[in-house]
Amino acid sequence: MTAYDPNNIFAKILRGEFPCHKVFEDDHVLAFLDIMPRSPGHTLVIPKASARNIIDIKLEDYLHVARATHKIAAAAKTAFNADGLTIQQFNEASGGQVVFHLHVHVMPRHDGIALLPPASRREDAKVLEDHAAKLIAALQGT
Ligand code: AMP
Repeated sequence: MTAYDPNNIFAKILRGEFPCHKVFEDDHVLAFLDIMPRSPGHTLVIPKASARNIIDIKLEDYLHVARATHKIAAAAKTAFNADGLTIQQFNEASGGQVVFHLHVHVMPRHDGIALLPPASRREDAKVLEDHAAKLIAALQGT
């Protein structure tokens, strides 16, 4: 297994070296909006632990990610009035992973509306701010 690279973009976000549209944080996880959302409200949940993928993450750290994903999923459904949710997590390039710090995608879905292809469009910062505010408000109700 390739070693964890501490200079990946999500490690930089965790260290505060790169900005993000944060929606949730606790001692173990951070959740923020994907800058190239495949659906409105597309959120990434990441561990604070330096884990590359599901193979090398410690179970306790993964359970924190799972707990936060469960929470974000409920808030995303409410905030975006979603009909459903797509939850994805990719491992290694062959598995579709592009950023090598474990992350779970939470994507609100609406009937009849397809996901955009990955990395197809960088969302406007104002739209992301608005979506983060909606998610934060919904999280306060959970
Ligand atoms: P993957 O590694 O294929 O599971 O996906 C990586 C995801 O990270 C993609 O959906 C990108 O749009 C997203 N992404 C890349 N850089 C950033 C960033 N600086 N802030 C938020 N999302 C990002």
